[in-house]
Amino acid sequence: MAKILIVEDEAKIARFLELELKHEGYEVEFAADGRMGLEKALAPDVDLVLLDIMLPGLSGMEVCRRVRMESQVPIIMLTAKDDVTDKVAGLDMGADDYMTKPFAIEELLARIRVTLTRHSGKAQEESRGIAEELTFEKLKVDVTGHQVSYQGEEITLTKKEFDLLVCLLENKNVAMSREQLLSKVWGYEYMGDTNVVDVYVRYLRQKIDDKYQFHMVETIRGIGYMIKE
Ligand code: CA
Repeated sequence: MAKILIVEDEAKIARFLELELKHEGYEVEFAADGRMGLEKALAPDVDLVLLDIMLPGLSGMEVCRRVRMESQVPIIMLTAKDDVTDKVAGLDMGADDYMTKPFAIEELLARIRVTLTRHSGKAQEESRGIAEELTFEKLKVDVTGHQVSYQGEEITLTKKEFDLLVCLLENKNVAMSREQLLSKVWGYEYMGDTNVVDVYVRYLRQKIDDKYQFHMVETIRGIGYMIKE
């Protein structure tokens, strides 16, 4: 059964949600502030996050933004205010859905089901039609096994570094703009801040190009990046 993380500082609401979700058969994990929420949301076994906006430590918006740098785990935002700007901001940050407190639990449960189904459908779609192994010179990328090696030596990449590398390799000999990479790898408009692409390209170069002294990722001036065969 799916595991749901509740990030909520109001103990009463958290307890209520926990009981209802457990009653539906979900596994439940809990965090009472933003920092703990961020840490737990990045755990690989969490299937969905219920994220309150008003949190101590780190706001729900900030937690959402940071989670989206690393993970596409479904997020449903919870807020006390029926404020359309909050809603828009939350969805911009990459939240999947939004609920205003107080909410009917049946509606929340329905949205959780829809979000989980939609997400698993998307994951299946993504895993279809992708080459299992991508290569560039002596670099090998096992896409399904999430492993990268150079001449047999394993290279450890974070999830986003890996996704970026796969995206560049799948589009070999195509100059990819920062915006394209951002939307393909991060999966949403990252508030127009394309610097994140440069930062991750730098990480890739440090771990691969610099370490093995070969030239893989080319900078295409005025556009973005390309892996050229
Ligand atoms: Ca709160």
